[in-house]
Amino acid sequence: MLKKSQKIIVGNWKMNPSSAEEARRIFLSAKKQALKLKNIFIVVCPPFIYLQQCKKLFIGDYIALGGQNICKEHSGSFTGEISVNMLKNIGAEYCIIGHSERRAMGETNEIVALKNRVALSAGLKVVLCVGEKERDINVAYLDFLKNQIKESLYKVERKYIKDIIIAYEPIWAIGSKEAMTPSDIYEMTIFIKKTLSDIYGQEEALKVRVIYGGAVTFRNAEDIIVEGKVDGLLVGHESVNQDGFRRIVKTINEIN
Ligand code: PEP
Repeated sequence: MLKKSQKIIVGNWKMNPSSAEEARRIFLSAKKQALKLKNIFIVVCPPFIYLQQCKKLFIGDYIALGGQNICKEHSGSFTGEISVNMLKNIGAEYCIIGHSERRAMGETNEIVALKNRVALSAGLKVVLCVGEKERDINVAYLDFLKNQIKESLYKVERKYIKDIIIAYEPIWAIGSKEAMTPSDIYEMTIFIKKTLSDIYGQEEALKVRVIYGGAVTFRNAEDIIVEGKVDGLLVGHESVNQDGFRRIVKTINEIN
């Protein structure tokens, strides 16, 4: 279980790897780190098809599993979708919602809000992804982000706020060579917390962890955490690179 003092590191495997055997190896490597490193908490989000085998590879709550998406409906005729109960029953505790790669496939803030509600009311913790496409000189990206947060949290009751982790992921940084600068990340973190405070009040807003995602590697991870002052990281492509991920988590573990 995630402790207050721990940094959270979410590994979004995206649509990787292509075999169950490789998935097993990558998961076991993350598990080894999770067992050993006490200042971090790892949430592995593999493709749905690997969740069950990953779940069988550990007993306890020193690491957690998450889905990369969820259906906004509970059950019914929704070919190709995965419901919240399926995720829960397989042992997942977290779910990434509103990832920019899903938003690019047509997921609107309204759909994200419905997914948040379904997941939170079923007891899942949500890693809610937000982030702007570009940083324009007129700073319109701040309004964009504020609106995205407000609309994505529409109808999320105050009591569930503690179960949300906001993953700030500027879209231009995802999958790119360069992450956002730590000082810009810090500014955006403050802005996100202020936006949450406007919606839910300061006390609730302070319960929400804000993490950063976008081109995180072992080279920039420490600066992002220390100077960006975020509560953790959402790691994409490096989360399926055993050595790269091991170095990221080890680096963060040593910060405390
Ligand atoms: C992501 O997929 O959320 C992500 C941050 O990707 P990457 O680390 O590859 O930029």
